Amino acid sequence: MQNDKPESPQTLLTHDPRHENGAVTPPIYQSSLFTFTDYDSMIARFRGESTQPLYSRVDNPTVRALQEKVAALEGGEACLAFSSGMAAISNAILSVLQPGDKVVCVNHVYPDTYRFLRGFCQRFGVTTEFIDGENEEAIRAALPGAKLLYLESPVSWVMSELNLTQLADLAHKAGAVTIIDNSWASPLFQKPLRCGIDIVVHSASKYISGHSDVVAGLVISDQPHITNISRHISPYLGGKLSAHEASLLIRGLRTLPLRMKQHHHSGMLLAEYLRDHPQVSRVYHPGLAPESWSVLTGYSGLFAFEVAESIDIPAFCNALQFFHMGVSWGGFESLVMPAISVINQDSEFNSAVDFAVPPRLIRISVGLEQTEDLQNDLCQALSAATRPIAPEETL
Ligand SMILES: *Cc1c(COP(=O)(O)O)cnc(C)c1O
Repeated sequence: MQNDKPESPQTLLTHDPRHENGAVTPPIYQSSLFTFTDYDSMIARFRGESTQPLYSRVDNPTVRALQEKVAALEGGEACLAFSSGMAAISNAILSVLQPGDKVVCVNHVYPDTYRFLRGFCQRFGVTTEFIDGENEEAIRAALPGAKLLYLESPVSWVMSELNLTQLADLAHKAGAVTIIDNSWASPLFQKPLRCGIDIVVHSASKYISGHSDVVAGLVISDQPHITNISRHISPYLGGKLSAHEASLLIRGLRTLPLRMKQHHHSGMLLAEYLRDHPQVSRVYHPGLAPESWSVLTGYSGLFAFEVAESIDIPAFCNALQFFHMGVSWGGFESLVMPAISVINQDSEFNSAVDFAVPPRLIRISVGLEQTEDLQNDLCQALSAATRPIAPEETL
């Protein structure tokens, strides 16, 4: 039986038709331009009558191979790849806005997305109202007159899952386009287009790459939205992905289902372990108390927890052996990122009142190391960082 687009992500991501010369991976077209065999085929390309690639800022066959796989995986008609997640996000947002438009954005989005909307877009007369994505009344009140509802789910840092089906419905009734940042779940654990969301963006630097060696972004949608971006926005902003990095992302995708299974497994176990730990006051993980309407089919390895006053946060970070301290996430390596390290140092971040996160919050990206090693490491670092509480502190 012929099946052009297999349903199972494993087969979709690992099985390719034979490439040139029987190669199992698509060739890396390290070429800026593509020439024509004759004058007529050149004219046909300029008339839009042929799909031959012309110039790699706009179209490259290796990048195209990546885009086709991602579009099928996310369940969209088409995909565009970019040189970073922020390039994908800014292209998608700019493709729906005109000067003077209003945006509604949920709290706790990725900080540079926040700054892009609040700072950059404001220069062009675009106003953004930030609201609590879990507060239906606030969303209903904010949506009239909005051109765009921008979402992330689960949201950054506090990891609460939003009701995407309901939000998409409310936005469409108000005539607003919806964009969601789906980097946390990856296309494997959440398919927002099926919930009625219009445009999905990813930082492919995270789980899709999976190896912490690429910075890249993706936009997936129906053909009209993608054509709008590729005709009117992306050629001029120029944030193209290179063929070499597209090839690295195709490699990352081969093992995405296996890696996500392990991130899910270790992340859940460590979240449960921390929830039951006496020095941990709260764990922020959408899998611990899932909503009845949840559309997540799995959980990635990124979550957060708040430590008790008795834990010295810098001492905890320094005592960890298998968790590095650093930004980003979604790679093979485990990481921690305490909120205070950002809040206290970065004044722009600090002034982002809509971005307030609990100061004793620690974000954790659970990598692919052995789960028990990671659990033992958290256990020993929490013990090492426990300080006696002076009597006056407990009053
Ligand atoms: C990292 C990240 C981005 C930005 O992606 P880059 O590839 O670094 O440009 C956007 N959204 C989320 C949720 C992220 O974590």
